[in-house]
Formats: sequence, structure tokens, C-alpha cells
Amino acid sequence: MKNQKLKIALQKSGRLSEDSMNLLKKCGIRFSSGLGKLRTETENFPLEIYFLRDDDIPEYVADGVADIGIVGENVLEENQKAVERVEKLNFGKCRLSLAVPKDFAYRSLKDLEGKRIATSYPNILREFFVRNAVNAEIHTISGSVEIAPSIGLADAVCDLVSSGSTLFSNGLREVETVMNSEAVLVSRPNLETGLQTILNKLLFRLKAVKAARQNKYILLNAPNEKLEKIIELLPGIKSPTVLPLAASGWSSVHSVINENDFWESVEILKNAGAEGILVLSIDQMIS
Ligand code: ATP
Ligand code: MG
Repeated sequence: MKNQKLKIALQKSGRLSEDSMNLLKKCGIRFSSGLGKLRTETENFPLEIYFLRDDDIPEYVADGVADIGIVGENVLEENQKAVERVEKLNFGKCRLSLAVPKDFAYRSLKDLEGKRIATSYPNILREFFVRNAVNAEIHTISGSVEIAPSIGLADAVCDLVSSGSTLFSNGLREVETVMNSEAVLVSRPNLETGLQTILNKLLFRLKAVKAARQNKYILLNAPNEKLEKIIELLPGIKSPTVLPLAASGWSSVHSVINENDFWESVEILKNAGAEGILVLSIDQMIS
């Protein structure tokens, strides 16, 4: 069908909103995202964006209101809707953790036996307790979980954590990880051919952006007599590009290195005689 558009659901305003929109923009998709807008068309890609509460995204995708969506794995796991996980997106990283008040003498999960645990994730927590044979009372509350112990509503909490500063400022100590989570792209099952083709195009771009974010483009100058050693040390994807510099006896070396190896590599290269090292971010990387 001509003029067919893929409908994507993004979180309207919250921790995933900005990263989700930036990811689409990095994929070269242009759109306006005014405050309070619930729906927007994109200018140069067959996509229509819906802005929703994150908890509603799995259901809207399962029901076909949207075709695809970006949502945290924690929400997917809690809701168990009929959606397919298409691609992990490497942002929105957090963990669902159990935390206890500082003066709670916690040693193991057994210490939570018979205790009241406040959480917004009752299904995930119940399953975790069953798996670990702990009998605890789960109290479902929809927000501000971290204050529950201090107002006498619960003995412990199970909540999302990234840095841990919110727990700390509420006098809580993280004791167990229940699950790790990050943002994922989900799709309703069995998309029509036309929509699947659009999704494949989007995925191609998403993967290029993801790969680029995990890598750096590195340029350096090397004296020719150290060139062989430096090339050997470069943990590049393929052999690097080497170009002669105007100054005789020197060459310029270009390569792509993994972000995780980056600082260590730079140090080693410098010690091996590399100079004028430049490190550039990459926008897209197509393999
Ligand atoms: P909404 O109004 O859309 O329902 P919300 O308040 O439920 O928003 P946010 O706090 O914006 O949700 O979090 C959205 C998602 O961001 C979480 O479901 C989780 O996947 C992810 N996330 C990453 N880090 C954290 C964190 N430290 N605390 C909470 N969520 C986090
Ligand atoms: Mg929510």
C-alpha cells in the first residue's frame, strides 16, 4: 500500500522520552515534538509518532493502536502483553532492586520472610519470591515507593534504581537485584508486509546508530619507524588507513576502536610514540 505509515509509541514525558526521540533523530528522521503534543507525523520517513504513558505502551502495541514502541524491559516483564522484542536499545538502563532501611540487619533474602514489601512491580516481584522460596507480603503502590518504609507502610521496597541516589537519600540500602532493564524496541506480532518493510528500514538505521555509539574514530600521527608497532597495537575493526604526512618521516593513522577499549588503547598508543591523537564520535556505522 502506498503512503502506508508505521506507527511508533514513545514515552510522552519521562526518563525514556529524550533518548527515544534522539535515537529517531540520529536515524535521520525529522519531526517536531512540541510540549503537550500527543501525535506527530515525521517529515522524511513513513512514521507516525504517538506520545503515551510508558505503562500503556505494551498494551497499545499488542492491540495494534501502534505497530511498534519503545519501552523499558521492566514494564514489558510486568505487563506480559503479546508483543515481540525486536532490538535492545542501550539506554534507559536501570535495575529493579530490593532495598531495606539502613537499620534493617539484612543478610539474605530469608530476612524478608513475612515482611511487607512496597513496589509498583508486583508481578515481577511475586515471581522472584516464588523462584527464591520467600514468603513476603507484596504491597502494590503506584508511585513514591521509596517513602513507604519511613511512613510505616512497608518494611522494605522493590523499586527501579540507576545511580542509587534516590534510595540513599531516603535512608534505604539496596540489597538484591531482581532484574536488569534497558529500553527495547517492541513490535506487535505479524506486521503486514508493507509495515514490516518500513520496520526493517528503521532497524537498519537503528543498528547503524547503535554500532556507531559503541565506537570511536581515532586519528593519530606516528613517526614512520614506530608505525609497525602502533598498527599492531590498534584494536581496530580492520587494518587501519595509513597516509603519509607532509612532514617527512611521519604518517597519519586512522582507525575505528571500540568505546570500551578506548582509554586503555589511547594510553598504550601514546606510550608507543603516537602524537596528536584525535578522537571523534561516529554518527552512523554500517557494516
Ligand atoms: P509515565 O508517566 O510515562 O508512566 P513513569 O513515571 O512511569 O512515566 P519514568 O520514571 O519516566 O516512568 O521511567 C520510565 C522508564 O525509565 C522506567 O520504566 C525504566 O525502564 C527506565 N529507567 C531508567 N532509569 C530509571 C530510574 N533510575 N528510575 C526509574 N526508571 C528508570
Ligand atoms: Mg509509568
